[in-house]
Amino acid sequence: MTDPSTRPAPPPLKPLPEDWSKALAIVAHPDDMEFGAAAAIARWTGQGKEIGYVMVTSGEAGIDGLEPGECKRIREAEQIESARIVGVDTVEFLGFPDGVVEYGVALRAAIAAVVRRHQPEIVITGNFRDSFGPGALNQADHIAVGRAVLDGVRDAGNRWVFPEQLVDGLEKWGGVRAVWAAGSPQARHGVDTTETFEAGVDSLKAHRAYIDGLGWENFDEREMLEGFSRMTGTRMGVAFAAGFEVYSLVWGGGDED
Ligand SMILES: [Zn+2]
Repeated sequence: MTDPSTRPAPPPLKPLPEDWSKALAIVAHPDDMEFGAAAAIARWTGQGKEIGYVMVTSGEAGIDGLEPGECKRIREAEQIESARIVGVDTVEFLGFPDGVVEYGVALRAAIAAVVRRHQPEIVITGNFRDSFGPGALNQADHIAVGRAVLDGVRDAGNRWVFPEQLVDGLEKWGGVRAVWAAGSPQARHGVDTTETFEAGVDSLKAHRAYIDGLGWENFDEREMLEGFSRMTGTRMGVAFAAGFEVYSLVWGGGDED
């Protein structure tokens, strides 16, 4: 007889490879990187890696009491500051409509274009599975964007897909080794963020207007990030960690373990 109340401990996480020099993080909204992944970004920029951020929307529908035009201005500024705190100097906004992002050719094309311009080896996005775990449904924009990232990255490597982009020296780019989805419930890899945890907290705090707008009583950025990071860290034998699901784009590359 097994006790139904005991669940098996989650499996250990393998460390993500760090033998790369350039990554691009492409997510739906300002703040998506800051709910867990930013401390990993701080670790990597601290190693001298170059990382850029691309926001598919400007999060303009994210604050109930704020009209979208004004909200866009505030949230873009907060995201730029938040990125700066973790060593990211380039933040681009693609201008898709917040809340109603559609998976489709237009989004894939926009993603292929930024990938062709930046030529990253690794592309980071947010969890795009249906949920973050039991009882925590994912959001429509996250799902649409993650799927489009996976496809747009492959489109970028095919000169016959979106060929109209290949002008003025822009070339196809097939150099992306993997897409890493932060915060996936299927994460089997992780990054030790113990040393850069505080930078992650500060980068979330930079989203002041957004967090205030959520109206969560007594919300504590550090406490929330500590909860997730400690749980993930336990699976790597470190204090704090961030979990990622690896989608390898190298044929036969498995999950790079
Ligand atoms: Zn989001």
